[in-house]
Amino acid sequence: MTFTDKTLVCKDCGNEFVWTAREQEFFAEKGFTNEPTRCKEDRLKHRQQREAQRTEIVCKNCGKTATVNFKPRNPDDILCDDCFAKQKEAIRASHTPAEAPAAPAVDAKDDEVAAPETDVAPAESVETKPDEAASDEPTSDDKAKDTVAAE
Ligand SMILES: [Zn+2]
Ligand SMILES: [Zn+2]
Repeated sequence: MTFTDKTLVCKDCGNEFVWTAREQEFFAEKGFTNEPTRCKEDRLKHRQQREAQRTEIVCKNCGKTATVNFKPRNPDDILCDDCFAKQKEAIRASHTPAEAPAAPAVDAKDDEVAAPETDVAPAESVETKPDEAASDEPTSDDKAKDTVAAE
């Protein structure tokens, strides 16, 4: 495919500028389908403006230097994109009600099981599957009752 220089009008300053064959080739290589809308100077200006809007910050969590595309209200209390995403994830996880419905399933074994677990490790207490223990293993239940009765 051959390219020829093309004259375009800059949408910022209204001046005509030449979109050279070489640039067109470059665009085509990159897979860009849109023609440039600004002359070279305005393109540069535009990019500098965008970069100027980014603010350099030091992440209060990992200490990494990063740039953010907004003006932080409190630059000492800011997270980089990574830590921000992690924090958001953590907040979301802590808001999911994982522990709530687990409690009443174990009434057969009385206070022995029910009381202490919620404090210690809510994540692990889910893995012990109280439902299974209560319904699928009647023998262990009986044993438990026996020991309780014996005491
Ligand atoms: Zn221009
Ligand atoms: Zn960070």
